[in-house]
Amino acid sequence: MASQTPESALIRPRNLLGKSPEELRAFLESLGEPAYRGAQIYHALYAERRFDFASMTNLPAKLRERLAREAAIELPRIIRKHCSDDGTVRYVLALEASKDSAANDSEANDRLLPPATIETVFMPEENRQTICISTQAGCAVDCHFCLTATLGLIRNLTAGEIIGQVLVALEDNRSALKPQTNVVLMGQGEPLLNFEPVVASIRILLDPNGMNVSPKHVTLSTSGIVPGIERLAREKVRPKLAISLNASSNEQRNEIMPINRKYPLEALLDACRRYPLRPWEHLTFEYVLLGGFNDSNDDARRVVKLLANLRTKVNLIPWNPGDLPYAKPDPARIEAFRKILADKGMRVFVRYSRGQDVMAACGQLALMEMGAATSSLTQISQ
Ligand code: SF4
Repeated sequence: MASQTPESALIRPRNLLGKSPEELRAFLESLGEPAYRGAQIYHALYAERRFDFASMTNLPAKLRERLAREAAIELPRIIRKHCSDDGTVRYVLALEASKDSAANDSEANDRLLPPATIETVFMPEENRQTICISTQAGCAVDCHFCLTATLGLIRNLTAGEIIGQVLVALEDNRSALKPQTNVVLMGQGEPLLNFEPVVASIRILLDPNGMNVSPKHVTLSTSGIVPGIERLAREKVRPKLAISLNASSNEQRNEIMPINRKYPLEALLDACRRYPLRPWEHLTFEYVLLGGFNDSNDDARRVVKLLANLRTKVNLIPWNPGDLPYAKPDPARIEAFRKILADKGMRVFVRYSRGQDVMAACGQLALMEMGAATSSLTQISQ
């Protein structure tokens, strides 16, 4: 006689990570529980960082038992940690198959996203920690200096997988946390091409009842997806915005960032000019200095012109040499470039990527995990 499967065993646990307060309230109501229990779970998850129902002692014992049966809190799983001499920790995280929660038709919503590996980086500093998170596994944007681009797009991340990276990094460093947390969306993927889950995770991150991170301490970096910038401009809850510029002319940018053919500098900077900055806010422009390619005095003067009339900060990031056809810029060149911008009154900083001894760029660890040869490759993130 065929054995009977109990009905409860047929119910797939529902991952509550990444759900908004409204979704959690609706979920609790669907269980016949009072809606306010959803708000209590939201607080326990993000404000208290409790990841098992048994520890949510503000809930009745029976409800905790029921949630353990009928729901789940699934954090990304650490499969590898690479620790750098400067304290940087790079995590390789495994993502399970999950539902495509961003899809807006019910059929696609039932589609399963495949398992994937991504990277998250934890960088401790004196009074704060910065966590760099991925928004997609792989990336379709194809920047020529980027190792993630060689993966292609594997899949989008869900809101739970995006916020889960912050939670995992904070949990793993719980005993050494500093008072301030910065989050940068600069890992694998183009955040504005996975818009809804990214925005859903940012709402939780910035929510005073959620993770309560200041909007001044969360930065989304884009390769320049103009419709995404325009859409973000309309959001009530927004992080700071950084643009990966890396060139002083369309011709130059086309060469290293093919996305520029679709959204050329004029359109990109026009969207930047229309972006509604808050009084304390500025746009950050990231500029990777590729020796002999985009680091001349003329390039610097063109950058000054391009960014005129914008409230900006410019980060100059000297390229780390690899086998790609770019050279490390000469220190004197870096200083000359910086000085031209500074002399025009621009806020400009030279940034060196951290954790170089554990490969400080998005995509590298993911490639290792996939068994690809990485020795001849190097990469920068946005
Ligand atoms: S730099 Fe960013 S947008 Fe460009 S390919 Fe790499 S991950 Fe994608």
